[in-house]
Amino acid sequence: MPTMIRKSFSVPPLGCNCSILGDPVTKRAIVIDPGGAHERILREVQQLGLTVTHILHTHAHLDHFLASGEMKKATGATLCLHLEDRPLWEMLEVQCQMFGVPYVPVPLPDYWLSDEEKISVGNMEGIALHTPGHTPGSMSFHFPDEQLVLAGDTLFRGSIGRTDLWGGDFEAIEASIRERLYTLADATVVITGHGPETEIGIEKATNAFVRT
Ligand SMILES: [Zn+2]
Ligand SMILES: [Zn+2]
Repeated sequence: MPTMIRKSFSVPPLGCNCSILGDPVTKRAIVIDPGGAHERILREVQQLGLTVTHILHTHAHLDHFLASGEMKKATGATLCLHLEDRPLWEMLEVQCQMFGVPYVPVPLPDYWLSDEEKISVGNMEGIALHTPGHTPGSMSFHFPDEQLVLAGDTLFRGSIGRTDLWGGDFEAIEASIRERLYTLADATVVITGHGPETEIGIEKATNAFVRT
């Protein structure tokens, strides 16, 4: 089986990790969490020789979708989000004011993702997991063949996402991590929403907030 093309890098204004996942055979790709710097993301996509079909969001905090409008304009890709984060998406201007970030209007998502929904990257397949707690509509994207999960701000190396913002819920994030993420294979690489990657097995043993 060919290996998925993957490039992850942090983008301004708040250092969110944006990822490009591509199918080496069909050259189709998805972008996850284009939080800013759309020109750089588009340049990376072009250098990899990929065509973006979908733009997925782990959640609707401003730093994870501020460049989604520009990305959609440039690629025509479908914007996808869990419905429970629609209120947050719609209050982007308020979020920008609160974090002192210049407001850029972003159109509403085109498609609402459900729990356990299949994610297509060309002919490669993943699954969307509803992992609420950091926000009501937080999602993680699992690619079993690649032993890879993109956990957004639900799980960080050594830490977990904050639950003191709009709709945050500590009990929910703890349940999401225990029941949806820690049940994945230990060797699964976790691309986090901010900062370095980790692995499920490492977090189960050493995470400061949720351990098994
Ligand atoms: Zn974030
Ligand atoms: Zn967040």
